Amino acid sequence: FAVLAVLLLNSMGFVLMQMEHAVSQQHELASHDRLTVLYNRLALMELMDHHLALARRRQSPLALLMLDIDHFKVVNDQHGHLVGDEVLRQVAQRAQTRLRSADMLARFGGEEFLALLPATTIEGARAVAEDIRRAVGDQPMVVNGVSIPVTISIGVHASIPTEGPTAAESMIDRSDQALYQAKHQGRNRVVALA
Ligand code: GH3
Ligand code: MG
Ligand code: MG
Repeated sequence: FAVLAVLLLNSMGFVLMQMEHAVSQQHELASHDRLTVLYNRLALMELMDHHLALARRRQSPLALLMLDIDHFKVVNDQHGHLVGDEVLRQVAQRAQTRLRSADMLARFGGEEFLALLPATTIEGARAVAEDIRRAVGDQPMVVNGVSIPVTISIGVHASIPTEGPTAAESMIDRSDQALYQAKHQGRNRVVALA
């Protein structure tokens, strides 16, 4: 009987472990982008709510970096969608390596990424953005042995978050305006707006 009990407990433990694994996998799928394994937009918006409240309480600046690949349509047109997918992955990786562990990077849209940098001034954020821009643009991506030059434009905004339900939206809007200016000024550059 004792042997049987041990066997039963063992298999119950195994089933529980499998269930736990399945649950954490579902959580991973819900909060992360499958292609790049970065946070998805929804997960970042939730993180942003939290960090907005923290920054407000501490009266500390929160910085946003809106990254967009330049002329990405051309990459897809010239090399195909699968190669485009791999380029997206590599851009995400290069950007991630330039951020600190407290920073958060998400795939915000098709070829757009949003980084959230807690306790970072606009000058600090601009320097990080410049670093990411160079990390992406200075060396071409290599996919299946083919060299593909890729550049990105980055819009930066940082401020101490204000009160109210539209605070997140207006900060994102501001980084979007900065990105728009970076594109308009010729791409492969960083524009920061307070
Ligand atoms: P700009 O410099 O103005 O940003 O030009 P762009 O070509 O990067 O911008 P546009 O918005 O015209 O095109 C974005 C392209 O990104 C078109 C779309 O097919 C591609 N794209 C979006 N998501 C994915 C994806 O998951 N995989 C691939 N391969 N391409 C994607
Ligand atoms: Mg683009
Ligand atoms: Mg875009």
